Amino acid sequence: IVGKYDTFIGYYNDAMHKALMEEQEIAGEMNTALRNKEFVIYIQPKFDLNTFGVIGAETLVRWKHPEKGLIPPIKFIPIFEKNGFITELDMYIFEEVCKTLRGLLDKNVPIVPVSVNLSRADIYKPDLCEFIVDVMARNNLDHHLIEFEITETSYTQDSEQLINIVNRLRELGFAISMDDFGTGYSSLNMLSEVPVDVLKIDMRFLKNFNDADVKSKNIIHFIVYMAKWLNLPVIAEGVETLEQVEYLRSVGCYNGQGYFFAKPFPIEEYEERVSNVTFA
Ligand code: C2E
Ligand code: CA
Ligand code: CA
Ligand code: CA
Repeated sequence: IVGKYDTFIGYYNDAMHKALMEEQEIAGEMNTALRNKEFVIYIQPKFDLNTFGVIGAETLVRWKHPEKGLIPPIKFIPIFEKNGFITELDMYIFEEVCKTLRGLLDKNVPIVPVSVNLSRADIYKPDLCEFIVDVMARNNLDHHLIEFEITETSYTQDSEQLINIVNRLRELGFAISMDDFGTGYSSLNMLSEVPVDVLKIDMRFLKNFNDADVKSKNIIHFIVYMAKWLNLPVIAEGVETLEQVEYLRSVGCYNGQGYFFAKPFPIEEYEERVSNVTFA
């Protein structure tokens, strides 16, 4: 038993050591990566589930690493949230998105409101709202063209600061979505205290859809019903099948985003892709 136990401890330390090394490697490369424009922006459209027209889009970051290829955000965002770099990255992405929208407008390409993800760390950037307003002004963009997605973790950490930021952004004319709704420990608390414009129903409730998961279906139904009572628009994430589209419509959810409609694609392809779609 002692031998086994030793092996277990040894293995555990190796795994921890490896994770730590990876983390240090990523943190060591992040600044250079930002300078070298290795962080690339993908975009995923949001759809009207009745007309299948495009109603908006969300930007999602990827790391185009020179040796490792395309790295998904799950591999680096948690590390950047720990070391604080996430705010620099999010502001960079926001600014790049604004420049892209300006370029598209200048070419008369039809655009939709685009949402940018904000991390819980971003709400502590002292001049966050001023920076955002300044970037919008420099690119001559209407504030209704940008939305921000926030998750419950920012609420759990410091509700006062989050409410403060959300109020200011909304006063400035930016819409706020509550991302991953229903997955945290205080979704209802947050909902009652933070004035958001849209609820994004987390995709986990659609995940087991084909296994006749009545519970998840009922939870979706309930969230949509509750949102209606609160006069809040809802959008479902992770819509992968027509069956899911039909279920969502049947319970009164009329907006969705997911592989059924479109996978995220590089934002440079927006112009070319948009010529093949209809707008809601
Ligand atoms: P999220 O904001 O909830 O984004 C939705 C995630 O679901 C994205 O993963 C998207 O690619 C994926 N997705 C979309 N449709 C489907 C579908 O039909 N099926 C499935 N299985 N997945 C789908 P992604 O791009 O890997 O991003 C993961 C998370 O990383 C995001 O979750 C968000 O929390 C974070 N993230 C991504 N980009 C940024 C960013 O620029 N800033 C910050 N702070 N966080 C970001
Ligand atoms: Ca999001
Ligand atoms: Ca989400
Ligand atoms: Ca998420």
